[in-house]
Amino acid sequence: MRTARLRSILLSFIGVSVLLFQPSSLPAALITDVRFWSAPDHTRIVLDLTESVQYESSTIKEPPECHVELKGANLFTTKRELQVNDPYVSRISLIQLAEDKVRLILRQRKPLSVDIFPLKPYLDKPHRLVIHLVDLTQEKKDQEERQRQKEKSPHGTKIVVIDPGHGGEDPGAIGPNKTMEKDVVLKVGEKLIQRLSQNKDIQAFLTRKGDYFIPLEQRIKIAREYGADLFISLHADGSFNPHARGSSVYCLSLSGATDEAARLLADKENLSNILGGASLRPASLAKDPNLSQILLDLMQNKSLKESFRMAEYLLRDIKEVNQLKYPCYRQANFIVLRGPYFPSLLIELAFITNKEDERLLNRSRFQEKMAQAIATSIKTYFKQ
Ligand SMILES: [Zn+2]
Repeated sequence: MRTARLRSILLSFIGVSVLLFQPSSLPAALITDVRFWSAPDHTRIVLDLTESVQYESSTIKEPPECHVELKGANLFTTKRELQVNDPYVSRISLIQLAEDKVRLILRQRKPLSVDIFPLKPYLDKPHRLVIHLVDLTQEKKDQEERQRQKEKSPHGTKIVVIDPGHGGEDPGAIGPNKTMEKDVVLKVGEKLIQRLSQNKDIQAFLTRKGDYFIPLEQRIKIAREYGADLFISLHADGSFNPHARGSSVYCLSLSGATDEAARLLADKENLSNILGGASLRPASLAKDPNLSQILLDLMQNKSLKESFRMAEYLLRDIKEVNQLKYPCYRQANFIVLRGPYFPSLLIELAFITNKEDERLLNRSRFQEKMAQAIATSIKTYFKQ
């Protein structure tokens, strides 16, 4: 134990970090796949593994590269060289150095901060190793840019933040024809932003602009930075029952769900952090330490009341586009709705696991009509 710690301290002096996750007696892992996800401020590389592995990482300054050596691992995937077309990484290489030893080389376009963490198997996901390369300067710049939006917009402008659920490693629910929730909610989100931008009193922004994962708490933080007056998270429902269909609207509940189905749905949506892979970096991003609990509770209550009002408009307008699963809005403890600073709602646009709803979700015209309906509700909400 002491030797291992000494070794780790010594190695950290020479710029190498060592993490051990597997006793050496376990069988060697096979690397079965490698993927990457490009975000505005980071690139995330994910390896699929049949077992957990030991790994060591090191960084090279010139040219900037990140090396990860996996011990007790062998290459099974034929993807050994990937070209990446994003601002941060240009190439991903996997090399079998010796039996049970693989090196991952990430050729970077600039120096980046590295965060590596394993994810345990979950549902249909195998063991994964995540290499998260972040441009901290860009991250800060984006954050400051968001914070400036409120000041830049004319007095009285309402800020709406639309959150397309899931993304990256987390596809969300999947339809019988393999339509992924993360893709259709992004499309509706983009159309909704276009619709809202036609209104001079409203400025609308997306939490996620592409196919990458953002932890749930981070989505609230982004909305807060924009100074959101309203936050809407877009989703598509999934069920084992292929006949279940229709749209539904949810608000936060602090005291328990409306019913068992609503509770199960919130549990499922909250899994996003596990499936998408929230990093080990602390995620307590949503709370402001300068606000007292009493003030936060007051804000939360006011936001909740406002979200109920908004939910009524949504039900009325969405009903014109798709049948409703339930006639009333429902409540459960969704992590993404926990921001106390603004009214937050979650819309399940339709059931992606129902053939007819899946077909609708894929149709540009349906996406457009759904965006139009939500935009109408938002305008009514701000008017009254
Ligand atoms: Zn979802």
